[in-house]
Amino acid sequence: MTANASALAMVLEDFSKPLVPTQYPIPEPEPGAVLAQVTAAGICGSDLDITGGLDPRIELPLIVGHEGVGRVIATGGDKRDMFGELLQPGDKIVWHRAVTCGRCYYCAVKRQASLCMYRKVYGITLPCADPPHFNGCYAEVLYVRPQSEILKLPDNVDEAILVSATCSGATAAHAIELADVQIGDTVVVLGPGPLGIYCAAFAMERGASQVITFGTRDDLARMKLAEAFGCTSVNIHAVDAAERKQMVLDMTHGIGPDVVIDAAGTRHTVPEAIDLAARGGTVSVVGVAVPQGETPIAIYEDISLKNLRLQGVWVSDARHMYQAVQLALSGKYPMAEMVTHRLPLQEANEALAALERREGMKIVLTPQ
Ligand SMILES: [Zn+2]
Ligand SMILES: [Zn+2]
Repeated sequence: MTANASALAMVLEDFSKPLVPTQYPIPEPEPGAVLAQVTAAGICGSDLDITGGLDPRIELPLIVGHEGVGRVIATGGDKRDMFGELLQPGDKIVWHRAVTCGRCYYCAVKRQASLCMYRKVYGITLPCADPPHFNGCYAEVLYVRPQSEILKLPDNVDEAILVSATCSGATAAHAIELADVQIGDTVVVLGPGPLGIYCAAFAMERGASQVITFGTRDDLARMKLAEAFGCTSVNIHAVDAAERKQMVLDMTHGIGPDVVIDAAGTRHTVPEAIDLAARGGTVSVVGVAVPQGETPIAIYEDISLKNLRLQGVWVSDARHMYQAVQLALSGKYPMAEMVTHRLPLQEANEALAALERREGMKIVLTPQ
């Protein structure tokens, strides 16, 4: 790829309509920016909310895709990664999916860049009508802005395995940090998708004594994978709510789980998460990406009487992406088994349809 050439992107022009293959001119990187060849782009569950028009943040047209891994094509001047390594064309890199300002109240004072007042995200809140156009990962190239942190990767890494680390993995790292999982804790994870699986792995890394995942009858393959990660799994269609609560009580000397991570991404599971949690426990609600409406909570029984901590988790910061990438690279968990489909970029619509049918676990586009 050279300057003045063009590259392919799959563009969302109208909600609930197929993405349109579109050529845009390849931009020159400004100082501090990186023009990256996208070699792997993850299809995220939230991409269905985005393409379906359920995410209120979306402005069209949009190149979908916020999970990406790639290679450096060109840099705007000398550009270094988070370890100070000078980036060269051909280097494999992963970038933080957000563009944050570093100077607002949340960035500078609270050190919670996930709440940055000016936060933008590739493939979500950066439309593509204007140059540099390449603002999403369902494309041959991504224009990585100067504000996005970059990590250089080992050259032998399989990029497809790392796409989950850039979104689900990073958000899971954030959830575990906020839930403050302790050595010996019992952790229940609702929803064994990539987010839930990463939460389970991070909980184990924190020293959880046992991790139990709840899934549905549609999640049998996912639950098998959770077991390969070291979890005990429960099919909620085979065991009713009272029975599964008793199972968890039996596994915790009648106490209940110290931490319940609701990674199902809807409001419907939150009451069960609260009911399961031990007194003094924490319920982490992670992965809710679009408005959900209300959920009943009995303030006295659910919250006060239990000293319950109800912890929301909104996206993640660069350190969480770093942690997730390190976890994936550690080789301790069968992360590769999460990647069930690899499809060419031109098949992005088929990939979204497969996700809608709940096929597989992680679908990855591999633009060439
Ligand atoms: Zn995502
Ligand atoms: Zn900020």
